[in-house]
Amino acid sequence: MEVYLDNAATTKPCEEAVAAAVTAMTQKYGNPSSLHRAGLEAQLLMDSARKTIADSIGADSGCIYFTSGATESNNLALRGASAAYGRKRKKIVISAVEHASVEETAADLETKGFEVVRVSPREDGRFYAADFISACDENTCLISMMYVNNETGYILPVKEVFSAINRRMPDIVTHTDCVQAYMKLPVKVSALNADLVSLSAHKIHGVKGVGALYIRKGVRVLPVVTGGKQEKGIRSGTESVPLIAAFGAAVEKYLPTVAQRYEKALRLKAYLLEQLKDIEGVEVNSPEDGSPYVINISAGGKRSEIMLHFLESREIYVSSGSACSKGQQSGVLGQFGIRDKRADSALRISITAETAESELDDFCEGLRAGMEKVRG
Ligand code: PLP
Repeated sequence: MEVYLDNAATTKPCEEAVAAAVTAMTQKYGNPSSLHRAGLEAQLLMDSARKTIADSIGADSGCIYFTSGATESNNLALRGASAAYGRKRKKIVISAVEHASVEETAADLETKGFEVVRVSPREDGRFYAADFISACDENTCLISMMYVNNETGYILPVKEVFSAINRRMPDIVTHTDCVQAYMKLPVKVSALNADLVSLSAHKIHGVKGVGALYIRKGVRVLPVVTGGKQEKGIRSGTESVPLIAAFGAAVEKYLPTVAQRYEKALRLKAYLLEQLKDIEGVEVNSPEDGSPYVINISAGGKRSEIMLHFLESREIYVSSGSACSKGQQSGVLGQFGIRDKRADSALRISITAETAESELDDFCEGLRAGMEKVRG
């Protein structure tokens, strides 16, 4: 039996999402921009998903813009807001542990005349709100901080930082990448004090290739993709109605149980950590108070890829560091003080509330066998 523990990379679409996509493809296949009935039906389906997603984060439907995924949402947030507000204010503040879709975009903006300040964790491996706040000044147009780090599960102090920014420097646009937090922790735009929020469907049992950007009313974001003026001109291109319908169906399914599933994930994380204590040489890289859905460990100096493939031979799927980096070591673990051999042997186990304890047992058994067999 396959043991899938790579849910931070992607999740299995739920039945409801698949059914919604099939219905949209077979029955509501009109172009939502068309003026006839087939178009209207597709439009209504999309409106309904937009409302479900908006409600889930405490927003108005009019503030949700569909994209092809969080990579595009993050690009739109950074490029679009800096284009709107960065003519005179040329500074962008981000955390030093952002996903590549924020980090690389910020690096590109750096080549176009922006100053990018990357805030790192302190010696103790923790982020301090004061460090973000003091990095912002009257020259700053945008601050972007992820809510939950995808490699370690670290929860960044987004609420604290954004509420201080809103009070003291309200002209600064606040953006948060909520990909690994959405449907796992409560994500409400007002509690977060966020002007822009990025979401992705395939991390929450929707389908790959769709995401959303929340844009607070009154906040300006210039388009990156121009054309037929879909999504009120913010993101041109015919919307993927099937993927959007699937996104809405997944949100509808999982929203009512966010709190219960969090509790369940906490118990599963505690269970796994307890088992791991018995395996010599395993070090835990995730903080105790991190998201219970992502557990990063180092396997006694055994190289991640080798261990990953050993586990794969037993049909156990985990990730080395971040799946998005395709085997390239990102600097994120180093930022958290995890370096050298310990970083080279890092594995990311990412669960859902539906993960069974027996699957975690299988993983531990596989890891134990791997630690004995695999050469460093
Ligand atoms: N942001 C974070 C924190 C992620 O973990 C990921 C994907 O792993 C992304 C953004 C990119 O999301 P997408 O695959 O929807 O482009």
